[in-house]
Amino acid sequence: MEQKEVQELLKDRLKEKGLKVTRQRLLVLSVLEENSGRHMTAEDIYELVSEDYPDIGLATVYRALQLLWDMQLVDRISFDDGCVRYEIGHLFKGEAKHNHHHLICRKCNKVIPFGDDLLDDLEHHIEEATGFHVLDHELKFFGLCRECMKKEK
Ligand SMILES: [Zn+2]
Ligand SMILES: [Zn+2]
Ligand SMILES: [Zn+2]
Repeated sequence: MEQKEVQELLKDRLKEKGLKVTRQRLLVLSVLEENSGRHMTAEDIYELVSEDYPDIGLATVYRALQLLWDMQLVDRISFDDGCVRYEIGHLFKGEAKHNHHHLICRKCNKVIPFGDDLLDDLEHHIEEATGFHVLDHELKFFGLCRECMKKEK
């Protein structure tokens, strides 16, 4: 997306949610948008934002992330070790459902997005068996990435 388009979309999304458009919120969202596909910790985001805006503090970034997450404009994945990573939300992109699953390396903690879903049948089965209407799901696979596998050998 063009930088200007992104800014407009960001503003629209914030307004739709009834949120004030603040510079901090815009900055956090645009960093995540520019880095979609990466899964970033609050510190990663803070580092990128503060390159251009050194007056912004880590606490501000945390607050903005929490709020944007509440508003479902960012998605987050939590790890067993308490480490949380963020990415631009699928709702932000206008997608009703998540668009990838997460492969998490137990050794180096890398997060690899994986696009193929193949779970429509399961959702269908759940609905038939229980009457529960599935809106979305979230899936994490834990294992060893290719690089760590090589090192193991
Ligand atoms: Zn690994
Ligand atoms: Zn992801
Ligand atoms: Zn899925």
